[in-house]
Amino acid sequence: MLDARPNRPDLPAEIARRRTFAIISHPDAGKTTLTEKFLLYGGAIQMAGQVRAKGEARRTRSDYMQMEKDRGISVSASAMSFDYKDFRFNLVDTPGHSDFSEDTYRTLTAVDAAIMVIDGAKGVESQTRKLFEVCRLRDLPILTFCNKMDRESRDSFEIIDEIQENLAIDVTPASWPIGMGQDFLGCYDLLRDRLELMDRADRNRVAESIEIEGLDDPKLAEHVPAQLLEKLREEVEMARELLPALDLQAVQEGHLTPIWFGSAINSFGVKELMDGIGAYAPEPQPARAEPRQIAPEESRVSGFVFKVQANMDPKHRDRVAFVRLASGHFRRGMKLLHVRSKKPMTVSAPVLFLASDRELAEEAWAGDIIGIPNHGQLRIGDTLTEGEALRVTGIPSFAPELLQAARAGDPMKAKHLEKALMQFAEEGAAKVFKPVVGSGFIVGVVGALQFDVLASRIELEYGLPVRFEPTQFTSARWVSGDKATLERFANANKQHMATDNDGDMVYLTRLQWDIDRVARDWPDLRLSDTKEMQ
Ligand code: GDP
Repeated sequence: MLDARPNRPDLPAEIARRRTFAIISHPDAGKTTLTEKFLLYGGAIQMAGQVRAKGEARRTRSDYMQMEKDRGISVSASAMSFDYKDFRFNLVDTPGHSDFSEDTYRTLTAVDAAIMVIDGAKGVESQTRKLFEVCRLRDLPILTFCNKMDRESRDSFEIIDEIQENLAIDVTPASWPIGMGQDFLGCYDLLRDRLELMDRADRNRVAESIEIEGLDDPKLAEHVPAQLLEKLREEVEMARELLPALDLQAVQEGHLTPIWFGSAINSFGVKELMDGIGAYAPEPQPARAEPRQIAPEESRVSGFVFKVQANMDPKHRDRVAFVRLASGHFRRGMKLLHVRSKKPMTVSAPVLFLASDRELAEEAWAGDIIGIPNHGQLRIGDTLTEGEALRVTGIPSFAPELLQAARAGDPMKAKHLEKALMQFAEEGAAKVFKPVVGSGFIVGVVGALQFDVLASRIELEYGLPVRFEPTQFTSARWVSGDKATLERFANANKQHMATDNDGDMVYLTRLQWDIDRVARDWPDLRLSDTKEMQ
């Protein structure tokens, strides 16, 4: 059953073997632990534990990172590539904290599937639900891993019910747990009729795997105590009767999620999940673009920027644009068209995020994520092609929910502050508005924590103390309409008008009432709370 693919025989083999995905979970469910084990089985690291150790070494580099560590959040998303069996996995990390939803949303535009990790004792938690909703907007296929089965956890049917009820997605068990907590033995692999037994003595050891001929196989009794065996038979029978069978199409359309039970810290169930990703997560999918969609198998290279990260290395003021390749076979040194500026760009030092470390990418294929170091030319939402004027769509920018005025601690340094703010705006970490009347800047974010992050980074990376102060404004809307009306509107509402960091016109609002008033008095104008990045 596991090799029921490929369903796209037209794809070049290198593209067909790629799986680009993200992990979505609530903090503490086990995302980091699972990532470590992925890398371990991907042969990318020698020993589990290195992701964390490496992460910590990196974090000590600056206090901003220290803050990230203290708060237990991951502010910066990154990508990791590794091989597993015949597959090339590209794991794109999603920022974990709810304050960073816009960043997360954009990250999820770069993947073809998501792994949802839930804690077996806690079930579907708030952050999982939010992230799931974002995946749903794009009909992303979801594979589920129910973690921490070595601890006292909830009844398996209850967990499955909760996912079905809460997230409105059908669930089909790929494995079934035997016992729980202290008595957790392992799982029955429903897809391959195997018994997987967890090794409690060695956390990094792969489980013992025993081939079984169905649930009546007498071999089962040699490994599973009678009481647990009886329960297993009953539950599997019930599950098969009550729950839908695994259907590749339904999984790939995002209507059905297979669930694996396991324990990441004990390396248990992880390989089965990885096999599942190979078998059920889709190969690189077409990208939505104007004026036409881009298919991964097209021979010409194209890609889009979904994330920009500045100062990845504090010693170098570089920025790295994370590009998801949408089509073709990319080679280092290629000259690509930067569609927005209509300028050619030679990509001479692309970075491939091999799990062990950043490495120069000699080549990459549709589905891969490459990093392109640059000095600010590349912005979120930009498209690169081999010449055609295509623009990848669906990478939005959301209206900020919180606005504050930024003031330089030292008034002589206002220009420096402007530069720093603009850089963070390009990263997508904040919106920066320049009011038409008066001086200074208004900074908009989606979550309050972002102000703290910005203030620390501006101080550390630019040596500028900065204060954020309340303003009378609470939100912003992009305004569009015909030129003459826009001009009249701007003149009549000077106190509310500003330009965003791309130079586009925005209307700063105090209350919903402002928005209603504009809708009533200016029927020919459109106020929008999202803007396509371009
Ligand atoms: P994240 O916040 O989702 O990245 O979660 P972590 O991977 O950091 O895990 C959170 C905590 O749960 C850590 O203390 C892990 O050691 C622990 N943990 C992870 N997986 C398991 C598991 O399978 N069983 C148990 N008992 N603990 C686990």
